[in-house]
Amino acid sequence: MSIILHGVPIGGGIAIGRAHLVLHSMEDVVHYSIDEEDVPAEVARFDEAIRATRKELEMLWGSIPENAPAELGAFLSLHIMLLSDITLTREPRDIIASQRCNAEWALKTQCDALVAQFDAIEETYLRERKHDILQVVERVFKNLDGSASDLPPVTSLLEDVILVAHDLSPADMVYFKDSNFAAFVTDVGGATSHTAILGRSLDMPSVIALHHARELMRQDEMVIVDGQQGVVIINPEETVLSEYRRRQRAWRDARRKLSSLRKGVAKTRDGTPIELVANIELPKDVEDVKRSGAMGVGLFRSEFLFLGRDTLPSEDEQFEAYRTVAEALKGQPVTVRTMDLGADKNPKWLNHGVADNPALGLTGIRLCLAEPLMFRAQLRALLRASAYGQIRILFPMVNCLPELRQSLAQLALAREELAAENVPMAPKVEVGAMIEIPSAALVVGSFVRHVDFLSIGTNDLIQYTLAIDRNDDAVSHLYDPVHPAVLKLIGHTIKTANKANIPVSVCGEMAGDPKLTRMLLGIGLRRFSMHPANILAVKQQVLATHLDEASPLAARMLRTEDPDRIADLLNQLNALPGT
Ligand code: PEP
Ligand code: MG
Repeated sequence: MSIILHGVPIGGGIAIGRAHLVLHSMEDVVHYSIDEEDVPAEVARFDEAIRATRKELEMLWGSIPENAPAELGAFLSLHIMLLSDITLTREPRDIIASQRCNAEWALKTQCDALVAQFDAIEETYLRERKHDILQVVERVFKNLDGSASDLPPVTSLLEDVILVAHDLSPADMVYFKDSNFAAFVTDVGGATSHTAILGRSLDMPSVIALHHARELMRQDEMVIVDGQQGVVIINPEETVLSEYRRRQRAWRDARRKLSSLRKGVAKTRDGTPIELVANIELPKDVEDVKRSGAMGVGLFRSEFLFLGRDTLPSEDEQFEAYRTVAEALKGQPVTVRTMDLGADKNPKWLNHGVADNPALGLTGIRLCLAEPLMFRAQLRALLRASAYGQIRILFPMVNCLPELRQSLAQLALAREELAAENVPMAPKVEVGAMIEIPSAALVVGSFVRHVDFLSIGTNDLIQYTLAIDRNDDAVSHLYDPVHPAVLKLIGHTIKTANKANIPVSVCGEMAGDPKLTRMLLGIGLRRFSMHPANILAVKQQVLATHLDEASPLAARMLRTEDPDRIADLLNQLNALPGT
């Protein structure tokens, strides 16, 4: 009998193969009492498991392949760091002694307590870090019961292998790196969990949050993984199998066709040049930018340099990161957004407490201005890096003109300081503001005289305009990029920037959605910034669009307030012939 499961799609196309179950020990932990005199031996057994796990992770860290995504190393380092945390390594020893129980039970008790603490955190990004604890603890369990080396190698299998796991840690990913695994599915994981982030950067079919996949699947059972739709089919019927084989071929053909577009310039059929640039999070992502054919970086989310670590990165460390990217892109623009911390991105060292409404609290430029020393260090690092390439500076979450003026004043002070120290800098560094709060979109006319460019952050603009938490699954069906109110704000921003003759881009997810490319072109957008993986699909749409045909339909979309009419016009726009 075939079974269909639905989870969170992470992308990467379609895989058809045999299930390989990754076993987990945590769920089967039993409790037993030990005698007083056996406590030291049990504590020693626990210590040995911690030591072995650390050694194992360090070994795996040393064998990360060169071409692995940057996140893999960062996440593995985080796991090694967690293993040094006393809450994980000391507390269970005390539990063994005080409760006279086995090491497994002590570790599970402590792990449950830590997970409960994480569950109480409101910010999604931080809350999801509980999965990192669980993944590390899972490894310690395997060492406790001696099954660490029991992960069966899968290289010998001829068919594509689908890894099926309760959760899959970065260390598991490195372990399986030499296997011909073609896809992975997990029972747990949120859209911003490390498993999801890794899945996206590996660009392989993956679906997470399936809840019971591992229970329902048997080893070597035939499985289809559709990473686009978030569907997993266990033991598919022959007709379903051949339909998915056809879809898989079509998907691969489309990808091949797309890769032939890498070299040519992006311009519409009427010859209008369009700038396609990339969003990155860490300097190592630059390799993806180069491979994608993007013309530079439109959004470097610099706050990722500040996350997942115990201390603030120094000015010099930041300077090196920005310089690396600027030099690697050889004069192409590198737009660095100043740290957009707060809301769901709160590093440990930032002691601002937990706000009732973090997304409405001290975030983005508000936080930068509230922490002038931290802000100044970043601005100095950016100005120093400007001597090595085309650095642009972008301020996030700007709400009103005074905030913009204060940010520019901080930048001027940083420049004065560096000039007095005779530090080389580019004579002119372009500065821009993100338009991602409705208030900013409405008063954008007051910004244009003060900035060199604008960038519309549609992810937040939609969240704040529609009062929909972008991280909350319960309201995700209401998160609508083509809501008439959102379109009006985007349209107004683009029109105002074009009239003032300053470049404007969209750098939210909308820019990377090929279904929206024609509409955005039609309302006057000429610069798109997106995940490197989307560049070619958007380029294909650009090449197939004639502005004379797209503009009137897009203008009508902006005029109507009827969502059905908007959907209809969007369909008409996308149905226009391509050549
Ligand atoms: C946005 O809000 O659209 C954006 C690009 O910024 P982030 O997704 O990092 O908030
Ligand atoms: Mg944003």
